[in-house]
Amino acid sequence: MPRGDGRLSHDLLPGEKGPQDACGVFGVWAPGEEVAKLTYFGLYALQHRGQESAGIAVSNGSQILVFKDMGLVSQVFDETSLGSLTGHIAVGHARYSTTGASVWENAQPTFRATAHGSIALGHNGNLVNTAELAGMVADLPQTPGRTTRVAATNDTDLITALLAGQTAPDGTPLSVEQAAHQVLPKIKGAFSLVYMDEHTLYAARDPQGIRPLVLGRLERGWVVASESAALDICGASFVREIEPGELIAIDEQGLRTSRFAEARPKGCVFEYVYLARPDTDIAGRNVYLSRVEMGRRLAKEAPVDADLVIPTPESGTPAAVGYAEASGIPYGSGLVKNSYVGRTFIQPSQTIRQLGIRLKLNPLKEVIRGKRLVVVDDSIVRGNTQRALVRMLREAGAAEVHVRISSPPVKWPCFFGIDFATRAELIANGMSVEEIGVSLGADSLAYISLDAMVEATTIAKPNLCRACFDGEYPMDLPDPELLGKQLLEVELAGGADAADALRRP
Ligand code: SF4
Repeated sequence: MPRGDGRLSHDLLPGEKGPQDACGVFGVWAPGEEVAKLTYFGLYALQHRGQESAGIAVSNGSQILVFKDMGLVSQVFDETSLGSLTGHIAVGHARYSTTGASVWENAQPTFRATAHGSIALGHNGNLVNTAELAGMVADLPQTPGRTTRVAATNDTDLITALLAGQTAPDGTPLSVEQAAHQVLPKIKGAFSLVYMDEHTLYAARDPQGIRPLVLGRLERGWVVASESAALDICGASFVREIEPGELIAIDEQGLRTSRFAEARPKGCVFEYVYLARPDTDIAGRNVYLSRVEMGRRLAKEAPVDADLVIPTPESGTPAAVGYAEASGIPYGSGLVKNSYVGRTFIQPSQTIRQLGIRLKLNPLKEVIRGKRLVVVDDSIVRGNTQRALVRMLREAGAAEVHVRISSPPVKWPCFFGIDFATRAELIANGMSVEEIGVSLGADSLAYISLDAMVEATTIAKPNLCRACFDGEYPMDLPDPELLGKQLLEVELAGGADAADALRRP
């Protein structure tokens, strides 16, 4: 399926895959408000985090209704569908798949019946003990009218099944809130969860706080969202982050907070480099300012004689602003982006495909001709896009093309919700910086250092995950065969239920 909003600079070539975001979540508890519409606009602000499917679940206090489908938020919902979702609690999700295929069954919020009602849940992140959790689901007691079978093939459905199916030692079904304290400590990996039963909105964040999750206040209620930018769009004021290892519950008694694990913060540094919106704040630091500072530091570490600094729009823009400022080289727009090309669901024909990068970017020849350019981008994954870009700029008359990257070489895969290419496909795996520069056809290539990138975030290095850059993973990982996007599909292909199939002896 073609990607959504065309925001990514990494996948400029049709069919080329770069780092993909891994979902946006949103939740609201607000009696008297149009919670489905608030959620729609919240998801709209989080669309960059996932463009494969979108869904909203709403509770009116006696039942939960879920509406979800493949596509962008604006394609999935209209006035009629939103109008049918009435209630005072809502949970929304925009998905990019990291465990489980991009199919309707895996769209979120996931839904399960419980002994007391039902639960709807949205998840941003990716788990690393999926096989173990599948075994735990298989061990759940069978209850008439409720299934523990795993129909979907994503890790999220396992969490939902576990929360829905917990019992006390005497067999009495636990409430969703009680179940959370049994289940959440057993989940390993990245999870920012927003979920609800008929009466209560819940939000929980993994002990490392790898993906962001924030709490906001409405005049008549509460909002939780992946990014603070989603609070702004629905008129909520920022209250605070959900703490790593914290569970909050919101109902008519107010907001309750509890801890299911000690906080061991390891926020994803790539959120600051590329993933989050520039108008989002994470851990008290604005993302745009971090990116500008990365550009400044990059200019100091890797100066070059040049006439013009241009960004790869749009993710390279703040770093290019910082590079120009620190280097004294003028900043300009050398590339015009077609903002709408990624919104088509029509596969490009072979003729169009051959145009490659021009489908998304067109050079401003009058600006570029005869100039020695510094081209600033946020990261290089496979390098195909940057290679095409360098060629295009030369064809447009650039005298020199110097590529500067505001993150270090990506050498390791991410298991926490960002779908990079496989390790073998990463251009920095096995090639020196000089060799990569030659491969791109650039006059020079330089990356920012790891320490300079980290310093630009103002977050202490030990509190950040940098694993895709330095290979230091923030938690133990299981054997490679128990990791991977298609883990549950592989098992299901044999006709088995995923939970049974992955049950360990
Ligand atoms: S491996 Fe990279 S992308 Fe993944 S969580 Fe860590 S820093 Fe973020």
